[in-house]
Amino acid sequence: MNGMRGTNMIYKKFDSFSLSDEIKKALHVLDYEIPTEVQERVIPLALEKKDLIVKAKTGSGKTAAYAIPICETVNWLENKPQALVLTPTRELAIQVKEDFTNIGRFKRIKAAAIYGGHPFSIEKTELKQKTHVAVGTPGRVMDHIRKGTLPLSMISCLVIDEADRMLDMGFIDQVEEIIKELPDDRVTLLFSATMPQEIKDLSLNEHRIPTQIDIHEEGSLTADIEHSLFITSEEDKFDLLTDITIMENPDSCIIFCSTKDRVDLVWEQLKKMNYRPEKLHGGMEQTDRNSAIRRFKRGQYRYLVATDVAARGIDVDHISLVINYDIPMEAETYVHRTGRTGRAGHKGKAFLLATPSQDRFIRQIEAFIGFQIKERAVYEKTEVSKARLIFDKKIKAAPEIKQLKSDQLNKGIMKLRFNGGKKKKLRATNFVGVLSNLEGMSAEDIGIITIQDTLTYVEILNGKGPMVMEAMSHTTINGKQLKVTKALDKY
Ligand code: ADP
Ligand code: MG
Repeated sequence: MNGMRGTNMIYKKFDSFSLSDEIKKALHVLDYEIPTEVQERVIPLALEKKDLIVKAKTGSGKTAAYAIPICETVNWLENKPQALVLTPTRELAIQVKEDFTNIGRFKRIKAAAIYGGHPFSIEKTELKQKTHVAVGTPGRVMDHIRKGTLPLSMISCLVIDEADRMLDMGFIDQVEEIIKELPDDRVTLLFSATMPQEIKDLSLNEHRIPTQIDIHEEGSLTADIEHSLFITSEEDKFDLLTDITIMENPDSCIIFCSTKDRVDLVWEQLKKMNYRPEKLHGGMEQTDRNSAIRRFKRGQYRYLVATDVAARGIDVDHISLVINYDIPMEAETYVHRTGRTGRAGHKGKAFLLATPSQDRFIRQIEAFIGFQIKERAVYEKTEVSKARLIFDKKIKAAPEIKQLKSDQLNKGIMKLRFNGGKKKKLRATNFVGVLSNLEGMSAEDIGIITIQDTLTYVEILNGKGPMVMEAMSHTTINGKQLKVTKALDKY
């Protein structure tokens, strides 16, 4: 953790904020004990409903900086969305939604992710049910606004995450359009790693003056990440890549390529060599992309070959090695790619492969990051063959499956399905009322409730599912005896 913090700061605990027990408990399960600097600055002001423009580097804990105060202030009883989070990519939308679900777990916060490539009708149905927080990409959010399927009247907080990336991807006009549709009295929180003029010029809200927060994390890019440069030819690159993997023998490694064809090629070659690699690029189906990330996060695969789709926002615990197989054309991309490692105080390595003619790009990157990347000689073949034995052993061995934080939170959760919903005039409060009055149950044991026309899904926490299922087979809700079964899908 220390790596995320200034050295002469007094460590504050999350307890020092005025947060409810439900939120504190979730932070504890997530192992968030000490707020990061951006969290320490943002949370108190966001709780006071101040507009904020926050400049902070990648990996500094921005998501929780806004998700914690939003989960805290959301009114559970309200059915319409109260917060809207805009993210530049689909992957990030899904991840932020998961972060909200994790942090809001014990308050039963319902978050929905809406993004292009995801069935609109499913999103429409989801948004019709209780949704506290909507997280989405600008294009799809605008679609929902136009079709009237995303009610905005109760939105009291707008978050613009990765604003600089929105600008790069040409989404900033859409963001401005969305801003215009929102109620005037809402809070706006903008987060960005850099502050180009176009972002400073964004008219967030003419009625409110935002507070600027600038998080300087001195040397954050060097403190936890060891940067190295290898000069090689295009022909020798793949051999160098395998030499690096053999010598480093990483537990978890991302290999960045410039295009999806390059990803396919490197992935194919590594696959032939039994690396069991995973791949990720924008040409893949969304469901394949999601499951690739999930499997990689769980540690089912040690190697992920990816385009920059994976560079932004995606958070995988403990990536030990990032390889820039193709040098990024933009210095900022280098920061985002390498920012996948050395996160949350862990150490990481970032290797950059470049050809002699790419010198110009190296200089650009170095100017941007403010230090010289140490050049290393390629490995001696004898060294590599010595390391090979241990490497082969690890490649053949089954990887250690990591427990995702959400798995930890999902432990002890059972989802029950009741054969009655809106048509029987049932509401979430009816379920909370009856379930929390069962012997041995309290409101804290009830998770997310989803009411559909003829069905209701209720998550029961803390291992009390079987007990509740038994009790509800002979307990009525609103005078109705419902059939209760264990839901097949977890989500
Ligand atoms: P950013 O959006 O600034 O790039 P994230 O919000 O994705 O960063 O957070 C980076 C990592 O740090 C994530 O793995 C997150 O779970 C972890 N993290 C965030 N806040 C804390 C905290 N207070 N204590 C420990 N880990 C944290
Ligand atoms: Mg982020």
